[in-house]
Amino acid sequence: MRYISTRGSAPVLQFDDVLLAGLARDGGLYVPETWPAFSADDIRAMRGLSYADVAFRVIQPFVAGTIDDAALKTILDDTYHGFGHAAVAPLKQLGANDWVMELFHGPTLAFKDYALQVVGRLFDHVLTKRGQKITIVGATSGDTGSAAIEACRDRANIDIFILHPQGRVSEVQRRQMTTILSDNVHNLAVDGSFDDCQDLVKALFNDHDFRDEVGLSAVNSINWARIMCQIAYYFWGAVQLGAPERPVSFSVPSGNFGNVYAGYAALQMGLPIAQFVVGSNKNDILTRFFDTGIMKMDGVSPSISPSMDIQVSSNFERLLFDLYDRDGAAIADLMTTFRQTGVMEMSQGCFDRARQNFDGYRLDDDETRAAIRAVYDTTGELVDPHSVIGIVAGRKCNRDVTIPMVALATAHPAKFPDAVKQASGIYPDLPPRLSDLYDRTEKVETMPNDIASLMAHVRAKRHAA
Ligand SMILES: *Cc1c(COP(=O)(O)O)cnc(C)c1O
Repeated sequence: MRYISTRGSAPVLQFDDVLLAGLARDGGLYVPETWPAFSADDIRAMRGLSYADVAFRVIQPFVAGTIDDAALKTILDDTYHGFGHAAVAPLKQLGANDWVMELFHGPTLAFKDYALQVVGRLFDHVLTKRGQKITIVGATSGDTGSAAIEACRDRANIDIFILHPQGRVSEVQRRQMTTILSDNVHNLAVDGSFDDCQDLVKALFNDHDFRDEVGLSAVNSINWARIMCQIAYYFWGAVQLGAPERPVSFSVPSGNFGNVYAGYAALQMGLPIAQFVVGSNKNDILTRFFDTGIMKMDGVSPSISPSMDIQVSSNFERLLFDLYDRDGAAIADLMTTFRQTGVMEMSQGCFDRARQNFDGYRLDDDETRAAIRAVYDTTGELVDPHSVIGIVAGRKCNRDVTIPMVALATAHPAKFPDAVKQASGIYPDLPPRLSDLYDRTEKVETMPNDIASLMAHVRAKRHAA
């Protein structure tokens, strides 16, 4: 499989180079040159398979030529064997044709584990083969950092530095990062905001000498490998509910549009998906887009579903690329204008095409809390403030009640205990394997908001040096 950039002027790459590159050199995002096609028979043959085996069939065509089948199989078995539920991504029924798929049984209790746990192992595999070492640096406001740390811990070819704003992440989130004591994991608490952390990381990547010196790399959500791994659970969920004979719809609480884009990829590969519902909190750039056809940047305001507090959904560019018939030059123009003006208006034809498959719905914090309570009262299920947005959005926008609607539950309620308690009156307990989280030793260094300090830290601490 070869990969091309959404802006049309970066080199065409194989999977291993796309994995390590992250962003394309023309500023675009890598996508497969063609979508692998799965026939109805191929999908039917997934019935009764384990999650890891479904993932193998879905991922194999994307890495063919760079990762051999035996290595991929080992990586996937190893990854999902370690998850906290035997079904890996269990489906639960809330009502007639009303379902949730739980994607929070990985080590850090959010759906990002389903991809990052595989990506960490893929990095290791490719780096070992090449005899290469890398330094990953990232900024987090919560979920991504812990999932990336868990994915990279104890890997000989990787050092990982994660910056978080000191005192501004929840205690669960902080402890999920700082209680990983591995030598190659470096937590930095920055005296500043999340934006300061992000600016520091950007400045580091823009220093090309430094970048080459330490072999700088990233695992952010624009990395194609993450999307690829997420496609698997759409196949898994649809097959459990009767695909290919029966179509299924998905409702996805969204931020960077990575998760729901993976569903779109599944549709392109032949999975019968009737509808996607994109759920947002009050940071609703996506919902406003699906209402109006205009993508307009706004400020970000903190919500009780912080992993969806975004200003721009970076993976949306991948969908745009297809809506514009894969015209890279057109996308480059559109994105440049968007960056300059904060507004992107697409042609009526493209908007109509987007609306064929997608609807958007937003919930503010009060509606989110009320919905957590209502779901608990009617089903006994305690759900987190992100997942509940998926559940409600799916119900509100459902176009055909004869088709199962599957809401993706993206985090365990115990990851956001205060919001869940406030909404429902019930304090959600951590699963047993994490129940001692509050007693574990923490390892973290504090750092001023200053690029020279960051560089000095990275140089001094990376053990690959
Ligand atoms: C990251 C995250 C999201 C948003 O996912 P995107 O792929 O960015 O759309 C939603 N919910 C939770 C709990 C997350 O951690």
